[in-house]
Amino acid sequence: GGHAFKLKRLDAVERQYHEAMRLQTTVDSLSGVSNRASVLNFLEKQSELASRHHRPLSLILCDLDQFKQINDRWGHPAGDAVLRFFGALLLGRLRACDQAGRIGGEEFLLVLPETSGREAARVAESLRSSLEAALIPIEASPDPVTLTCCFGVAQMAERDADGGSLLARADVALYRAKAAGRNRVEFDDPS
Ligand code: GH3
Ligand code: MG
Ligand code: MG
Repeated sequence: GGHAFKLKRLDAVERQYHEAMRLQTTVDSLSGVSNRASVLNFLEKQSELASRHHRPLSLILCDLDQFKQINDRWGHPAGDAVLRFFGALLLGRLRACDQAGRIGGEEFLLVLPETSGREAARVAESLRSSLEAALIPIEASPDPVTLTCCFGVAQMAERDADGGSLLARADVALYRAKAAGRNRVEFDDPS
């Protein structure tokens, strides 16, 4: 109560400061999506809600294909530009209630509440084809670069004890997409 009261009374400068701190601790400054801790925390909360209220929840796990080649060929800043581009693509595509986060170097997790696996697979397919068609400008090259991404999709099932178990199934699907030749969406069918 005291804390809420204090926040209410903050002046504009203090308010700005708190907002800057909030962004600094929750957002990945490179790609603009949530950071790892923030998106995993969102996943834990949403998986609890989904299982308690028997609501659908789906994940899309994304891993850029042969990303290392971009760094090797055009340098680390070019790789960074690609990560920024992909972050913007994700943010432009998701609904306000979804959350996207960077959970590793070139791995992103999308948490989609109130979404079936079938719908999530459609979102992933749309992201896949958008990225495939994208010409990404980088400073080191006169020509834009192109790259693709693999997507592993999973929907929360009764037997998923927590968000971690759901994430593990999305990871299995992602691995299948890589093994099948990349630039693919794979769905982990729980049945
Ligand atoms: P695959 O198709 O199997 O996923 O191959 P890959 O090259 O994408 O995967 P790999 O794990 O071999 O390489 C990932 C690379 O991502 C290696 C690492 O140097 C690079 N990386 C990780 N974080 C960053 C970052 O913040 N910026 C840049 N530019 N590169 C990064
Ligand atoms: Mg990776
Ligand atoms: Mg990769």
